[in-house]
Amino acid sequence: MTHEIAVIPGDGIGQEVTPAAVEVLEAIETVDFEFVEGDAGDAVEAETGTALPDATADLAADADATLFGAAGETAADVILPLRQVVGSFANVRPAVAYPALDAVQPHTDLVFIRENTEGVYKGIESEITDGVTTCTRVITEDASEKIAEFGFDYARQNGFDDVTIAHKANVMRQTDGLFLETAEEVGAERDAEYDTALMDALAMHLVMNPEDYGVVICPNLAGDMLSDLAAGLVGGLGLLPSANVGEENALFEPVHGSAPDIAGEGVANPSAMILSAAMLLDHLGYDEEGDRVRDAVETVLEAGPRTPDLGGDGTTEEVTAAILDAL
Ligand code: ATP
Ligand code: MG
Repeated sequence: MTHEIAVIPGDGIGQEVTPAAVEVLEAIETVDFEFVEGDAGDAVEAETGTALPDATADLAADADATLFGAAGETAADVILPLRQVVGSFANVRPAVAYPALDAVQPHTDLVFIRENTEGVYKGIESEITDGVTTCTRVITEDASEKIAEFGFDYARQNGFDDVTIAHKANVMRQTDGLFLETAEEVGAERDAEYDTALMDALAMHLVMNPEDYGVVICPNLAGDMLSDLAAGLVGGLGLLPSANVGEENALFEPVHGSAPDIAGEGVANPSAMILSAAMLLDHLGYDEEGDRVRDAVETVLEAGPRTPDLGGDGTTEEVTAAILDAL
C-alpha cells in the first residue's frame, strides 16, 4: 500500500528542514510513500496574491497525511486554513528532555493536547473605534468535549498517569468555565484521574517541577504558549514536533516557525521536523518505524553532529546525513 503524503515546505527554514524529513521517510524501506509537493507562504503570496493556493489546499485534503514546514508573515493565512482542510481538532505537542542534552529540566516528559479550532484563533477581531479593539473568544461544548476525549484517550494509550486540564475559569467564567466543566465531565465519565490547573500558575509549576505533569489538555492559545515554554525546558524549538489530528486526516509540523534570523544559512536543526515525520509514521500505524526514527534522532543528539542551536557547528545537511546513517 502506497501512502500519499502532501509536502508543503513553505518559507524560511521550512525549505531546509522539510526535505530532510522527506529523506528520512524515504529511507524507511518497510513503508511506501508517494510525495506530492505544494507551495504556500510568503513567497507564493508575493507571486500570486494568495498565501495558500487552492491547488495546495487540495493536495492536503486528498493526501493520507501532510508534512508542513513553516510560513513566515503569512503563517495565519496558511496554517489556520490548512488545519481546517485536514479537519484537525487536536494539536499534539510532545516535549521530551533527551538525556544527551543539557536540558533546563532533564526530567521533562510532557504532551500538550491543544484545542485546535477555536478560542481566540477564530480570528474574530475588530476595531470598535479609534484606539479601542476587541477579540472574541469562542469556546463550545462540542470542541471542548472532543479535545478532552482525545486527551484522556491519548493519556491512556500512551501510558501517562497524569492528566491536567488547564484553564482560567476564575476570570473567563463563561468560556473557560464551559471548557473546564466539559473536560471534567469527560474525565469523570472515563473514571480517569486528573487535576485541574489555572494556566498562569501551571506555567510556573511547569518551569519548576515539570516531572509532576504528563498530559496537559489546553484551550487553544494556552496550549500554544505552554508548549513553547516546555520547548525552553528541553532544549529549544529545534526539537519539538507536533501533529494536527483530525478524524480522518492529519498534518505534521514542527512547533517552530520559519526562523527568519537563520533562514538560508543551512544551519537549522532538522530534528523537530524529522520527529514530526516520526509522528506521521505513528499516525499511519507504523509505530515501530516511528520509534526507529526517534531512536536515530536521539543517537545523533548524543553522538553529534549538532546544529548551533544545540551548541554545535554542524549543518542541517550534516545532521540529516548522520540521522540517515543511524537509521
Ligand atoms: P515565525 O514568525 O515564522 O514564527 P519566529 O521569528 O517566531 O518565526 P521561530 O521559527 O518561532 O521564529 O523561532 C524562534 C527562535 O528559535 C529563532 O531565534 C529561531 O532561530 C530559533 N529556531 C526555531 N526553530 C529552529 C530550528 N529548527 N533550528 C534552530 N533554531 C531554531
Ligand atoms: Mg514563532
